[in-house]
Amino acid sequence: ENTQLKDIIAHAKEYGFVYPSSEIYDGLQAVYDYGAYGVELKNNLKRLWWETMTRLNENIVGIDAAIFMHPTTWKASGHVDSFNDPMIDNKDSKKRYRADVLVEEHAAKLEKEGQVEKAKSLTAALARLLEAEDFAAVRELIVNEGIKCPISGTSNWTEVRQFNLMFSTQVGSVAEDASTIYLRPETAQGIFVNFLNVQKTARMKVPFGIAQIGKAFRNEIVARQFIFRMREFEQMEMQFFVRPGSELDWYKEWAATRMQWHKALGIPEEKLRRHDHEKLAHYANAAMDIEYEFPFGFKEVEGIHSRTDFDLKSHQEYSKKKQQYFDPEINQNYIPYVIETSIGADRLFLMTLCNAYVDEQSEEKQRTYLRLHPAIAPVKAAILPLVKKDGLPEKAREIVDLLKYDFNIIYEEAASIGKRYTRQDLIGTPFCIAVDHQTLEDNMVTIRHRDTTEQERVPIAELHSRLTEACSF
Ligand code: ATP
Repeated sequence: ENTQLKDIIAHAKEYGFVYPSSEIYDGLQAVYDYGAYGVELKNNLKRLWWETMTRLNENIVGIDAAIFMHPTTWKASGHVDSFNDPMIDNKDSKKRYRADVLVEEHAAKLEKEGQVEKAKSLTAALARLLEAEDFAAVRELIVNEGIKCPISGTSNWTEVRQFNLMFSTQVGSVAEDASTIYLRPETAQGIFVNFLNVQKTARMKVPFGIAQIGKAFRNEIVARQFIFRMREFEQMEMQFFVRPGSELDWYKEWAATRMQWHKALGIPEEKLRRHDHEKLAHYANAAMDIEYEFPFGFKEVEGIHSRTDFDLKSHQEYSKKKQQYFDPEINQNYIPYVIETSIGADRLFLMTLCNAYVDEQSEEKQRTYLRLHPAIAPVKAAILPLVKKDGLPEKAREIVDLLKYDFNIIYEEAASIGKRYTRQDLIGTPFCIAVDHQTLEDNMVTIRHRDTTEQERVPIAELHSRLTEACSF
């Protein structure tokens, strides 16, 4: 399985999708940069999310809040006190691990070996201890189970310590008047503190939603699996404000709507799974994840949470500013309840890439290509003159001009036509448009389809409408 992930990581780098950050200095752990095709694919995914949220729903509008927020925000949200991971160090290797992950991985190993009941009771015990914040007992569990450090092979563990995941920095020019602020660990709070601003200025009536796309930062200790878990990443969150008491109906509705969105994106049903949380965060009265089967197993892509009135109420308490809404239909003031849908743009990107990556290595066929839906493919069409002379490049350039205002187009004249097709396959371009001598006579071109490699002759005049149709959902 992991060879598949390795292949995908190598492909992403080789063909301009994702590079390790500051690679010439050997990279920075859990930070990545997007290349020429990566940024197009990511932008397409973000646009798709944004448009389904804000255009298809009359009652959802967007905002773009700052990354830095008043430090009290994170007191109110609970992040200062409880956005922690329980960490444990191995005294011999000096390596640090997430204590809960060590136990979970041990349980997964037991399950694989057929000790299903043992594994189950271990995970249940872990959940109980974490809930009770009994970290001494978590350590005891690790020691008693004989869980060893993968590096040193010993079980010489320190105590378990809570480690806050927020990055902090200083504002102010001199040390004395500097004050500590945080890089936001989620975009949601920028929405909550603007709840009344947006409600009033966009004249929204409950139920309504606020959507936002933006960077978030977490000092993840267990940072691996490529862009699945990063220290700097992008979130796409939507907070939906509803009447108290109606939240669980809306929760159900958003869970179904979001699952449907993933299927519409072309993710096969059997690769998606719904995981209902048993252990709920301090702010939630219901929570679930949409999981995708990555090469390293089923993992969360998106979370849907019923956050109650926790955030708004807490901001009201800390800011001493009323966070109430007057509902004209029932003539009542209340703090709305919130359903949140939260998805990482980078995880969505990774899911999309894993789902699109096709590596055919049979006797008759050897081909690697990205089977991306044309609507999200980084490049929609490559315009390829068969030869570099006889007026074919000029004709091809005319076609580029015809399409470039509405589609991301590549013009390519170097190398044989076969090689140029291969190159477009690797970046997932759905259509190659070849211009040959015949084109000069009849204004027809050859479209070569990425997935089937079939070719057809099409009038130039039809190209725009063909692409428009293919590139929509
Ligand atoms: P996990 O359990 O994987 O750490 P989480 O439950 O902490 O995730 P949320 O706080 O619900 O995640 O964040 C919502 C979404 O943001 C996640 O579903 C995921 O897509 C994305 N996300 C969270 N942390 C990261 C990260 N470190 N790197 C990339 N994406 C992330």
